[in-house]
Amino acid sequence: MANRIPVGVLGATGMVGQNFIRLLENHPWFEVVYVAASPQSAGKTFAEAVKGRWHMSTPLPAKVSHLIVEDAGNVKAAQGKCALLFSAVDLDKKAIAALELAYAAAGFAVVSNNSAHRGTPDVPMVIPEVNPEHLDVIHCQRQARGWTTGCLVVKSNCSIQSYMTPIWALMQAGFAPKRIILTTLQAVSGAGYPGVPSLDIVDNIIPYIGGEEEKSELEPLKIFGRLENGVIVNNSEITISAHCNRVAVIDGHTACVSLEFAGAKPKLEEIIPLWRAFRAVPQELELPMAPKNPILYNDEPNRPQPRKDRDLDKAMAVTVGRLRKCHVFDIRFVGLHHNTVRGAAGGAILTAELMKAKGFIG
Ligand code: NAP
Repeated sequence: MANRIPVGVLGATGMVGQNFIRLLENHPWFEVVYVAASPQSAGKTFAEAVKGRWHMSTPLPAKVSHLIVEDAGNVKAAQGKCALLFSAVDLDKKAIAALELAYAAAGFAVVSNNSAHRGTPDVPMVIPEVNPEHLDVIHCQRQARGWTTGCLVVKSNCSIQSYMTPIWALMQAGFAPKRIILTTLQAVSGAGYPGVPSLDIVDNIIPYIGGEEEKSELEPLKIFGRLENGVIVNNSEITISAHCNRVAVIDGHTACVSLEFAGAKPKLEEIIPLWRAFRAVPQELELPMAPKNPILYNDEPNRPQPRKDRDLDKAMAVTVGRLRKCHVFDIRFVGLHHNTVRGAAGGAILTAELMKAKGFIG
């Protein structure tokens, strides 16, 4: 564990930030040396700042508990302390957009969980198993913006992770998705803490999550897009219609997906072996956070289930089940992933590992 890269977490006291602190505790490449949050937490030790609101089921890491929390709005405070910053702050989009650019301009490699820059054409939105080559846009980003060591990379919305890798595995085998209808069942931890009031969600389903359907319909098009003239150009061949629901599950987003293909259609019996055999760059590079099997197919008729499947393979695998013929489109299936790990902190750590492996973090 010698010579680990010093890293910081912006928004370290929040739901996603705490997952970063937990997952990075024994990371072989990265060591948390810097934590920042709102002005209300600034100046306290991390242990004081999260007193009574440490939501992880593992103890607060001793090394981080003594760090003094800085104000995430103060870029200078991080200078000279770390090279890589994970961003999990929650404030209004304009403020986050400006803040993340300021950190990148100041020389930090920034990996963000926030949506503020997901639509920015020269900012790659990466799922490491799907579009690792999009990281190459960093060269153009640096050149166009006059940055040297700094860069900005974003993670996609947590809700889309359950089906992106399974669909990509089929695209890799030569099948082209044309239309997708999906219904998500999203856990309450996706709304941060304290999130949805218990009296709203217990014994209930809320068929609306602000902005989520738009993100679910647009973000896959960028991830399935191509790098051209220094920007990412969205895929224009796919149309998606999403229904996003908040359900009374703590962790684990589920998606029920119906998929229509343009051209050749895979047979049901060839899809499951394709999913089970799927491996990608993170597995080839044996990145520390990479699941051994990115897609796990469960044959049982009543799986995947959040409580039973969300933690598989470091909570980084997508579990798929219920593959069957669709009577309107071609196929349908159910996907599940851990939203605060694969869909947030773990996915961002895997992205940073890929950036390190590709030489973007010095
Ligand atoms: P959260 O639990 O509400 O945490 C928000 C964090 O932002 C806290 O550390 C908070 O610090 C900090 N913060 C609030 N106001 C601030 C300010 N004015 N200046 C600086 N820092 C400020 O939210 P979360 O669920 O962790 O989400 C964090 C981000 O990740 C959001 O952009 C969210 O959309 C995204 N995301 C969340 C998930 C998920 O599953 N939860 C998944 C993917 C992406 P204090 O503790 O000091 O208030």
